[in-house]
Amino acid sequence: MLYKASLLLTALIDLVGAFFKIQHYPNGGILMQMSVVASLIFMILGLTDVYRNNTFKPSDKLIWTIGFIFLSWMPDSAIFQNTKREIQNKYNPMKTPLLFLFLLSTFVTVGQSRQVCFSFDDLPVVNYGVTDTLFHRQLTDKLVGSLARNHIPAIGFVNEQKMYENGKVSRFQLELLKSWVDNGLDLGNHTYSHPDYNIVSYRDFTADLLKGETLTRKLLQEKGKTLKYFRHPFLHVGPTKAKADSLDAFLKEHHYTVAPVTIDNEDYLFALAYHRAYFQKDTMLMKRIGADFLTYMEAKMKYYEKQSIALFGREIPQIMLLHASLLDSDYVDALVAIYRKNGYGFVNMDRALEDDAFQTPITVYGKWGISWIDKWALSRGKKGEFFREEPLTPEYIHQLSK
Ligand SMILES: [Zn+2]
Repeated sequence: MLYKASLLLTALIDLVGAFFKIQHYPNGGILMQMSVVASLIFMILGLTDVYRNNTFKPSDKLIWTIGFIFLSWMPDSAIFQNTKREIQNKYNPMKTPLLFLFLLSTFVTVGQSRQVCFSFDDLPVVNYGVTDTLFHRQLTDKLVGSLARNHIPAIGFVNEQKMYENGKVSRFQLELLKSWVDNGLDLGNHTYSHPDYNIVSYRDFTADLLKGETLTRKLLQEKGKTLKYFRHPFLHVGPTKAKADSLDAFLKEHHYTVAPVTIDNEDYLFALAYHRAYFQKDTMLMKRIGADFLTYMEAKMKYYEKQSIALFGREIPQIMLLHASLLDSDYVDALVAIYRKNGYGFVNMDRALEDDAFQTPITVYGKWGISWIDKWALSRGKKGEFFREEPLTPEYIHQLSK
């Protein structure tokens, strides 16, 4: 992504510089030289990307390296030789490094761009027993519409039990799910009936998991996509190493990739409180919950940025857990705005998981459903103090969601 931006910038400066030179406007030469620096940065970023990509073989990496260096070097040295004299004649030698420094600082700013993947659980709709189809339709339209309009490559995790009515597939629910794929969004498996792997056996859990993949798989296939991701209900991956390992092996055997969560949060508590306020037509309360939800979610974002730095010395791509709830559909625009304001770019699950951080081993097990960042931290021996600043859900939300 970054190297694409730098390539674009290089091309842009090149074009403007060439135009200036052809027209014999002043400063054409310096622009061309700036493009040399820009293309060097492009080369470095591109190569970084190549070396961080786990899917490349060493021989591929070598070819890319030669390609990047050779292709950048040839035009660059030509431009450099061509424009050297003009610059030596016209410019105070101090000015050029300053301009280059300015260009470099632009790149450093862009280089800090953060990444987040938005993921939504419990599709098609978190309905809390509401069967009114209009409610389902409006919620889905708002959520999917927001994601599409904002170009968010989100993924939704489906509980296919919700797709059936009296033992038959509900055409209506199928349409809701279809609107996700029709809008370019991805889907994953979240089991059929949302069982708790802390409680149910491996046998029952895996049977439920397979039962939950049929309609989703078909919908994706119709779009030429494959069902790839699995998200554990309650983020319960298995309370013991043995139970977790057996599920991992099962998932591998069935070609599933686990979709982790790094920004865990209690949006579902806010969502239940909000849902109740909506049906009580208490708009004041809805607004209060919405505002507090945004404050809480921004605090969570910042908290996991800090935890990431404390653990990895840098910000890893984040994967945020959300739900297909009324609250999240009403506030997804605002959430997107918060992330944008904080310099985030939106990536899909594939892209987020390319980061090596996701290969960090997990060696601790428990009944918890927590962020992968928390699990990596616990695995590295971090204790209570490390998690001290985790933002809390306001007490009134706990009360309202009881
Ligand atoms: Zn769920």
